[in-house]
Parts: sequence; structure tokens; C-alpha cells
Amino acid sequence: MTPTSHVPAQVLVVVVAASGMLLASVLPQGMAQRTTQGVAAPADDVPRPSASSAPASPATSGGNSAPRAAVVPDVAPDPLPAAPALPVCAYDDVPTRFAALSDWSVTLLDTSFTLGPDYRPDDLVPVGTAGVEGWGEIRALVVDDLRAMDEAARAAGAGFAVQSAFRDHTSQQEIFQEWVATIGEAGALAESARPGHSEHQLGTALDLRSAGTGTPAWEHPDWGQTPAGAWLRENSWQYGFVLSYPEGQSAVTCYDYESWHFRYVGREMAEQMRTSGLTPREHLWRTSDGLT
Ligand SMILES: [Zn+2]
Repeated sequence: MTPTSHVPAQVLVVVVAASGMLLASVLPQGMAQRTTQGVAAPADDVPRPSASSAPASPATSGGNSAPRAAVVPDVAPDPLPAAPALPVCAYDDVPTRFAALSDWSVTLLDTSFTLGPDYRPDDLVPVGTAGVEGWGEIRALVVDDLRAMDEAARAAGAGFAVQSAFRDHTSQQEIFQEWVATIGEAGALAESARPGHSEHQLGTALDLRSAGTGTPAWEHPDWGQTPAGAWLRENSWQYGFVLSYPEGQSAVTCYDYESWHFRYVGREMAEQMRTSGLTPREHLWRTSDGLT
């Protein structure tokens, strides 16, 4: 699977060759940092092109006559604010920065950032509330968009069901220990989150499978190639859901590809993530956790 949400490397090369200016103004910085490593420094360190070589700046050609236009820099603003480099994937227990229940859309969880054992949403409802097949509980704020996504998927012949939804700290600990007992700790770390590190504890993450079957998605060679998996990968963002661990992105997501694991971040942020071409972990770092 080639995630279409990511800008192909060839496109980056063309853009960089065409205009160094565009590197800073068009590309998401995280993408530039990752894909141009060894070729170009992060956008903040790229020498500004000389005025003579710079194309007309869109920031100053918009016809906005407000006084503030006079101080608009001659470079279009980066679509995402500057942030330190994304932390490498490490196993740690650093309390995540945005850990209030109201922070659900920006709470960054990975192999290092963690929630406390007592984090538990207070508005959990059965997934059936959204009319979707399956088990478990989700936060009530997910229901409307989950219902809309379920109806659209079924209309497209790509019906899905919920395999697993909210998991508290204790149940995640049990699952992780099962993985350790089955395949050892090294394998378990790649396959499953340690307790406190799972997005399922947010009450907004779902493991999905195909409707009408009891077969978990991970028992398919690649569930992302099934009608439901493929439809969700391409369309879930329209309903506020993002694929947390896309294929080929383990170095930045910290987990193996999971075609079935979707996290609800709301329609606006899901669209921003889609547009940025960044994985959710990169995008959250760039727009929240990595900012001072
Ligand atoms: Zn999951």
C-alpha cells in the first residue's frame, strides 16, 4: 500500500529543484526534514533565496490592503509552525503534555509519551449507539461521525465493524502481557502499546474489521487491501478519523503498520493531517507537543 496521503519523494525532488522558496512555503516541514535529510536542512535552516531568484510572493499579492499587509514577510507562511525535530522512537514513560479529557484531539501517545493509569473518559457509550456493528465503548463525541462513516462505508459496499474500542490501563496491560508471553518482549513492543501508551485509552481509537465476519483485520495478509480497509484508508478523514500507523512509516509512528487502527481527531484536524501529508504523530508534534 502506498499511502496517498503522503507526498511522493519524486514530487519533493521536483519542488525543491524548481524553487528553494517553495520548500519552506509549500512542504510540511516534518516531511521536508525527513525526506530531504542529507540533501537540505530543515526549512528554518535553509538560506533564503535571493530576492532576484524568488518568485512573486503569494503573501503580498493577495490584494489585501489592510495596514497589517505591510509587515507580512515576503515568504508565504509555513503551513505548520516551526518545531524541534520529532523525537526518535524510544521506550520511556514521559507524561504526555496534553492529558486532559478535553484534549482528546491533540493528546500525543507513542512509545515514550504516556497517559496516567487513571485516565478514563467520562462519556463512554456503546459503539452500537452509532448504529455500527461490533463491540466496545467510545466517547460520545465520536458517535455522530462514526454513524456517518458507517453509513457511507456500507453504501459503498465497504461495511466495517468495530473489533476493539476503549481499553483502560488495566486491560491494555493484560493485552501487552499476552503479547509478551506469545512472542517475547521485543516483538510485543512492535505489535502492541504498553499500558498508558495506547490510543485506545483515549476512548477515540477503534480497531476495525470487515462487517459480517468475525475475523479480526490482523488475520488478513493486508486488511488494507480489502474493500472495507481500502475504503477507510481513503475516506475516513472525511469523517474525522485518521490511520495512526500507516504502511512504511514505522520509523516515525513507532509502531508496525496497522491497517485497522483508526483514531478520531475530528473532521477539521483529520483534513489538516491529510493535507499535510504527515502521519498523526508527526502532525501532533508539529502542531501541539513540539511547540513551546
Ligand atoms: Zn488499535
